This record gives sequence, C-alpha cells and structure tokens, in this order.
Amino acid sequence: MSRCLAERSIDHVVLERGAVANSWRTERWDSLRLLTPNWQSRLPGFGYEGDDPDGYRDMPETIAFLDRYAEVISGPVETNTTVTSVSRDDDGYVVRTDQGDWRGRTAVLATGACNIARVPALAEAVPQDIATLHSMDYRNSDQLPEGEVLVIGASATGTQLADELHRSGRPVTMAVGEHIRAPRVYRGRDLEWWMDVAGIHDERYDEIDDINRARKVPSLQLTGSDERTTLDLNALTAKGVKLVGRLAGIIDGKAQFSGALRNQCAMSDLKMGRLLNLIDEWATDQGLDGEVEAPHRLEPTVVEADPPLGMDLSNGAIRSILWCTGYRPDYSWLDVPVLDRKGRIRHDGGVVDSPGLYLMGLQFLRRRKSALMDGVGDDARDLSDHLVSYLDGLKTKLKM
Ligand SMILES: Cc1cc2nc3c(=O)[nH]c(=O)nc-3n(C[C@H](O)[C@H](O)[C@H](O)COP(=O)(O)OP(=O)(O)OC[C@H]3O[C@@H](n4cnc5c(N)ncnc54)[C@H](O)[C@@H]3O)c2cc1C
Repeated sequence: MSRCLAERSIDHVVLERGAVANSWRTERWDSLRLLTPNWQSRLPGFGYEGDDPDGYRDMPETIAFLDRYAEVISGPVETNTTVTSVSRDDDGYVVRTDQGDWRGRTAVLATGACNIARVPALAEAVPQDIATLHSMDYRNSDQLPEGEVLVIGASATGTQLADELHRSGRPVTMAVGEHIRAPRVYRGRDLEWWMDVAGIHDERYDEIDDINRARKVPSLQLTGSDERTTLDLNALTAKGVKLVGRLAGIIDGKAQFSGALRNQCAMSDLKMGRLLNLIDEWATDQGLDGEVEAPHRLEPTVVEADPPLGMDLSNGAIRSILWCTGYRPDYSWLDVPVLDRKGRIRHDGGVVDSPGLYLMGLQFLRRRKSALMDGVGDDARDLSDHLVSYLDGLKTKLKM
C-alpha cells in the first residue's frame, strides 16, 4: 500500500510495532518455509530476484525479502511504534501510538488476519499436567515434553507440525476437522502455478455466492520443501501419524472426537477432485494438454474403519497438545464503530464502513489471494485508487 500511495503522490507513514516483517520474525516456527513458491511473492514494483523461482523461502529469506522491499521502495516506516488507538473526528482519523500521535484524512488498517491465537473454549478442560501450546508460540519440538502429542487441526499448520513432531520421535495423533487436501505438484507443475494461471487466485469477492463462507475456508494442506512432497493425510498416516475426528469436547479428562472423520475426508477428496477438474478443463481450453503431464487423481484418503471417538487425557499417555486451530485479528485498538456482531470489520472489499478507512490482508478481502503476499499488491492498487478518489472528493467539497 505504501508503494501504491507513493506512486499516487499521497503523503503517508507506515506505523509498525516491531521491525519490518515483524510477524515473520516473531510469530512463526523455526522450520517454516512458505507454501507459496518464490516467484509467487510479487509485490508492487518488486519480485523474486534469486535463481530458484520454484523453491520455497525459509523465514530468514522471507524477512530479507521484505526488508529489501522496504528499502527499494524507501517506505516511510516508523518501526517500534505500536498503535494504541484509531478514532475518527471531523478531519479524518486520529492515530495514537506509544511514540506520539498522528492525524490523517484517511487510514489503512493493515495489521493482518493473524494477531491472536484462536484456541477453542474447550481448551479450559484440558487436564493440568498436559503441556499445551498454540502454533503461534511454537518454535520447535524442544518446547514440548517427550511423549505422545495430540495435534488439533489438519490444515497447512497442523499437517506440517504433525510431521515435524513425528520426525522428532514423538507419537502423534491428529484431530481432523474440515480441511482441504491438495497435491503439491499436479501434472508436473506446482499447484500454486495452476491456481495462478487458471485465474483461481484472482476470483473476486463480489463474484462468489457465499463470501462469508469463502472467507472461512481453511488453508490448503500444502508445505514448501526441496522435494516438493505432498503432505496430505495419507502421507502422514503412512509415516505413522494416527487420525481422529474433530475435537468436540473434553469431559472429566476424556477427549471426545467427532464421528464424522470419514465424511470430512470424503468431502476433502471431493473438493480436491473439483479443483483438479477445473485445472484440467482450463488446461484443455488453453491447448496445454500436449505440454504438461496427463491428468491423474490421488488415491482417496485412507481412514481406519472405526477411528476412536474418545481418548483418556488423564492417564499420562498424551503429554502435550498443540493447537493448530488458526488465528484471528486483533482490533482492540480500533475505536471506530465498524465492527459487526461477530467482531468483524464491516467493509466492501476493503472499503470500510467509515469514510476514508481501508482494510487489507484478510482472507478473500477482494480476491481469493488477498491474504497471500502475492495478493496484497492487487488489493493495494484497487484500494489506493479508491483512496485517491475519496481525497479528491474531499478537495472538491472544500472548494464548494
Ligand atoms: C503460519 C503462517 C504461514 C503463512 N504462510 C504464507 C505463505 O506461505 N505465503 C504467503 O504469501 N502468505 C503466508 N501467510 C500469510 C502472511 O503471513 C500474511 O497474512 C500476508 O503476507 C499479509 O501480510 P500483512 O502485512 O497483511 O499481515 P502481517 O504479515 O500479519 O503484518 C501485519 C503487521 O502489523 C503489525 N501490527 C499489528 N498490530 C499493530 C499495532 N497495534 N501497531 C503497530 N503495528 C501493528 C504487526 O507487527 C505486523 O508486522 C502465512 C501466515 C501464517 C500465519
């Protein structure tokens, strides 16, 4: 957004509570690599500069990439500046920070979607002697005691960390709710490449039937590795990870799992099949069938006949629980009345329900790719155009 505002000669400042790339520096686990290939972090006026476009950045590389971008665009970033409140007055917005106050006719909320660890209320009932951690605080397996781990959640984070914990020698059981299965490589090309060229990532928020639902869809079960391996449930169970249904409750130290595991897996297979059908149709339309490998399908997800519906958490077998249950944004500093009953900001594709206020970086904000580094650029272009017309409108009003 800073780059787009500068291009449009809009005077602005970027306030950041930590250093540039703070979330990548402080809220990710050590071994994390992006699940988007290197080429797929196209920021306005800047892209991948190395010689491995199809590789996946680790955290130091991701931080270096964003540091370099801030440098290249000479972003006016005020680091170590925490915003403590944003409110509205007659002239626009008053932004209070721990380093002094700012005023702006407009404001852009770009604090991301992942500020607070989302932990289900039933976590309260976990027996005291079990160590619990959320993926936001997880750095490496040394933080957990030896012994069996229960991983809750089977999207990108859950599958990656279940794999890591299993490799650390701990027996792992994973509670699996709704998830989206995806092959890393399909017909010889990265799945992200297909989703990019076939326009799936560009689908717009105003063309989707149920946008609220689309905004809640879990991340694809993808991981970035040199081997470009698929890390789906079949890959995990082949290594020895046990699967149970979604964690539905904990009563008297006993965990209860949903009986819908098979259905969830069947649904996920079906959705993956639909995605691959879409890709195949697109490839045929574009005359690509001769250039890429032939279509193929993955074996259905293997689920044992009667997965356990309960587990005693008080017998000492399970030593730790890792919540891979997602994140939510923090708007505790936002003193503009724009939150709906569920605490979400009311907006239309990032144009917030308060004049001159904008929002970025949330899932499916304007496009399917809106919460990916590769997606924020297009959103910033659209929203900065809107912001410029808003400011022009104010100038016209003042002249009248
Ligand atoms: C585990 C995980 C893996 C991911 N993997 C990928 C991936 O492979 N590829 C990809 O493209 N995207 C990935 N993402 C998404 C990515 O992290 C961002 O959501 C995306 O890059 C959008 O960036 P953003 O700047 O909007 O949000 P963020 O990167 O979250 O940045 C928000 C910034 O706001 C700052 N901030 C928050 N509150 C305040 C305040 N009160 N005052 C001042 N500053 C504040 C934070 O310090 C932070 O630096 C992943 C996210 C997670 C959680």
